[in-house]
Amino acid sequence: MDKRIIVAIDGPAGAGKSTLARRVAARLGFVYIDTGAMYRAVALWAERSGIGWSDPGRLEHLAREAAISLTRGGRVMLNGEDVSEPIREPGISQGASIVSAIPGVRRELVAKQQQMGREASAVMEGRDIGTVVFPDAEVKVFLDASPKVRAERRVKDLAGRGLEADFDSVHKEMVERDARDSTRPDSPLRQAPDAVYLDSSGLNENEVEEALLRIVREKTSNGKEVLR
Ligand code: C5P
Repeated sequence: MDKRIIVAIDGPAGAGKSTLARRVAARLGFVYIDTGAMYRAVALWAERSGIGWSDPGRLEHLAREAAISLTRGGRVMLNGEDVSEPIREPGISQGASIVSAIPGVRRELVAKQQQMGREASAVMEGRDIGTVVFPDAEVKVFLDASPKVRAERRVKDLAGRGLEADFDSVHKEMVERDARDSTRPDSPLRQAPDAVYLDSSGLNENEVEEALLRIVREKTSNGKEVLR
């Protein structure tokens, strides 16, 4: 009855992972863990400390020392400060993608993520959840969408937060980030062999949520109990 369940959602930037993970976690009564926010928090701390993106030793040290917590209300805390907004700046998106390619940084943050997932049933989203962080997750989904749709969503997202962005530069930045995330030697973005592929391009948020809940029902033997 009390078996811990992990729902792993991986995929490229702008595929809708955060929205989906937040909604499904709320439906299931699970904890929502945004692992990208953790890489972003390390990038932000590095930037504020004047540490270059390409200083692996010091970045690993920061990742180890960083006290990162994700509140139930969806806020991201770094060393006691709410950094939910500054970590979403476009410069920090690129910084997170660069620091996340450093094996020592990944090792530190993966250990923190595994600890979080041991404490409670969780919907965890990122790039390597189903392949590296929880290869034994009960439910694995690879959420995708066309690059055009993903860039359009990101522009809308930024506009909603009062940040001006034009489609072409967002699209270019996203393609660059995907290429770096997919080609790095350590834990590249890729679909786990046992993950279900879900293309959200032509679906609205409700439809994607229902699709994932159907998968959760199919994959968990006690699906009825999970889906309250
Ligand atoms: O998901 P989000 O766009 O916030 O992630 C920011 C960056 O952090 C990604 O571009 C990726 O490089 C990195 N990341 C990662 N592994 C994860 C989550 C995010 O490498 N599990």
